[in-house]
Order: sequence, then C-alpha cells, then structure tokens
Amino acid sequence: MFANSNVLVINCGSSSLKFSLMDAITGKVFVDGIAERLMTSAATIKINMLDKHNKLSLNAPFDHKIAIEKLVELLTQANLIEKISAIGHRVVHGGEQYSQPILITESIKKTITQLSKLAPLHNPANLIGIVAAQQAFEQLPQVAIFDTAFHQTMPEKAFMYALPYELYQQNSIRKYGFHGTSHYFVSQQAAKQLRKPIEQSNFISAHLGNGCSVTAVKNGQSVDSSMGFTPLEGVMMGTRSGSIDPGIIFYLVEQLDYSLNEVNQLLNKKSGLLGLSTLSNDCRTLEQATSSDDSEKSRLATLALAVFCYQIAKSIASFSASLTNLDALIFTGGIGENSTFVREQILTHLSLLNFYIDDEKNQTTRLGVSGNICTTNSRPCLVIPTNEEWVIAEQTYSLLQQKNQG
Ligand code: AMP
Repeated sequence: MFANSNVLVINCGSSSLKFSLMDAITGKVFVDGIAERLMTSAATIKINMLDKHNKLSLNAPFDHKIAIEKLVELLTQANLIEKISAIGHRVVHGGEQYSQPILITESIKKTITQLSKLAPLHNPANLIGIVAAQQAFEQLPQVAIFDTAFHQTMPEKAFMYALPYELYQQNSIRKYGFHGTSHYFVSQQAAKQLRKPIEQSNFISAHLGNGCSVTAVKNGQSVDSSMGFTPLEGVMMGTRSGSIDPGIIFYLVEQLDYSLNEVNQLLNKKSGLLGLSTLSNDCRTLEQATSSDDSEKSRLATLALAVFCYQIAKSIASFSASLTNLDALIFTGGIGENSTFVREQILTHLSLLNFYIDDEKNQTTRLGVSGNICTTNSRPCLVIPTNEEWVIAEQTYSLLQQKNQG
C-alpha cells in the first residue's frame, strides 16, 4: 500500500548525483544534497538535513552506489528511511516511447538503455542511479520521469528536420526538446498566477541556466521548443554554441583538421558564453566583467552577453508563429530567475510584441521571488523559480496512487 506522500527524487549525472527527499503534495523538502566528482579522489557528498549540513569526503574515490549507501545510512540515523514511499528518477531521454511517467521494470530499463544511443551522455548515467537505488531500496517502487516527455505533444511540422524522411523513420532523427519538467512546472505556476485554466493558457517559457531553452506552450501543451535532437540546438548557452551553420563543422574538419571528438568538445564545452567571452560560462562573472578596467575583458564580456540576449529574444519572437494568443512570457532557471541585466536586455528587443519592463519590479523580483516584471500596459513577463524536483516527486506520487486505485 502506498503509505504517504514522501518521495526521494534522484537526478543522476555521469559524475554527480543530486537527491531530494520531499513531500510530493506540499513540496516541503526534508533532505537534499549532492554527491560530486564521483569516481575521482576528490569525491564528496553534501547533505542538508533540515537545519543540519553535512559534508563528507571519504578520502577515496567512490561511485554512485556508495553515494546512495551513504545517503541511506544518514537517512536511517535520522529515522527518515521508513518515511520514504517511492523513488522518482529524472531520465533525460524518453524518445517517442514515453510521454508520461512510468513505473520502472526490467523491460523499461532495457528501453532506457536502447535510448542511450540518442543521449549517450545522460541516459547511461540515469540508469546507474536507477540500479543503485533499486539495490538500496529493494522494496520501494521506482518511477522514471523523462525530460523529453512534455514535448511529445509537438506537432510533426515542429519536430521534423528537413532531412530525408527515412532518417526519421529508420533512425529516429527528429526534434525532441529538453528541460520538459521545468517548462511544464513554470507554465502550470504561471496559469495559477494568472488565474486561468492551464488548458486555456498560452506561454513562451525561457529556461535560462547553464543550459538554455525556449518553449512555446499552447493550451498548456508544448508545441515547439528550441532544443532539438540533442540539447545542443537552439540558443547559445553557458558552454554550448546553440545553433550554428552546419557548414562550420565541415570547415573545421576539412580545413582546420579538427577530429569529430574535437568538434564535439568545441561545440558542447568550449563555446557559448565561455567561448565568446574567453572568460567564463557564468553569467554573474560576465556581468561583473562588463565594468572591468581591462577594456578587452569588458568588451568581450559585453559582446557575449549581447549575443546571448539577442539570440534568446529572437527565439522568443520566433515562437509567436506557434501561437494564436500569448498570455505571458516566463523566465526561469538561474539566469532567468536572477539576472536583472539579461532580462532587461532581452525585453528591450521585444517591444514589437508589447513587452515593456518595469525597472523597479525587475530589480526586486529575484532570489526566489516570483512575479510580473513588466509595466501595467505591457504584456506580462513572469519570473517563476523552477522546481523540477517537485514535479518528479509529484508525478511519481500521482502515478503510484493511480496504480493503487486501479
Ligand atoms: P542553473 O544552471 O539554472 O543553475 O543556472 C546557472 C546560471 O545562473 C549561471 O550562469 C549563473 O551565473 C546564473 N546566476 C545564478 N545566480 C545569478 C545572479 N544572481 N545573477 C546573475 N546570474 C545568476
């Protein structure tokens, strides 16, 4: 029987594991933390438990399995272990198979493994977390929530590339879209703030963090998104280039002797804000650098931020083609929730869509504060802190409740 609504949320990356034990109904967090630099001698695990903060370094390389074992040990000591009813896992790629949360079985794990060819950096890491959690919590149901799921409502005309059709039919090459749980969460919250039923709400949602994506939400459903077959497409990001002329890749390989692996590293790890500024992928560092005494440093930081804001504004404007109505623009993610500078720059490009920023509201709406940052004669632009963990907990809980009732 599904006893209560406390869900342990696990988000497992290749060298990190984030976790959060929360009440799926209220969103109250009891324990959260992160294990980082796994499988290196610098591995650490940080756990915040109510008002206690623990940081453990085991002085030896440890992996995801040991990180989960440590977590179990601490949860047991704190008498929290019996309070967990289920585990919810973030899984990056669900392909076309999964548009809903799913109870993890052996056959689901096989499909997630097959989908690894579409997300070689992410799905194998997500599976490591699933296997480790199944070993540690044998009795508990485990649910997968897919980052691509929210975008499975995109129509064909949005998700097809203009490539030979058989590449879609035989090789699944199409746009999938990512950051789905975040775009879903903020659009639900935005509808609540505007007091509109989500089924009648239309938004453009900009998730701006180290990864960035823009999504058009029509009647509560995703109808287009800037990320594509992989999270590399779309607007420029912290270290990713976003969309570039594919001809540049041929030039790099044929004329500049880049290997494919070097191109991959260049576009995913060395481009974006970092590549253009030559300084950092971190928005805060770049904002500070714009007023540096070093004129070249300040010029490149200003340029990187200008290209970033212009590309995002263009992406937002382009999604007006996907909608017949627009209730609000939404900003979320570390940059969207906090950078008054970036928000102001983006909205300056969007006056044709009737967005006019209110400087005072822009300054006060940050650091976890939610609200409209535009003037009263403007279309609303809502800043909404995202909470992907809560979506994962909530969807895990709902699925298991449905199964119990069914
Ligand atoms: P995320 O990936 O969502 O954690 O977002 C990370 C990005 O948010 C980094 O580029 C940070 O510099 C940026 N960020 C976080 N806090 C602020 C802030 N107060 N002002 C500007 N950017 C911020």
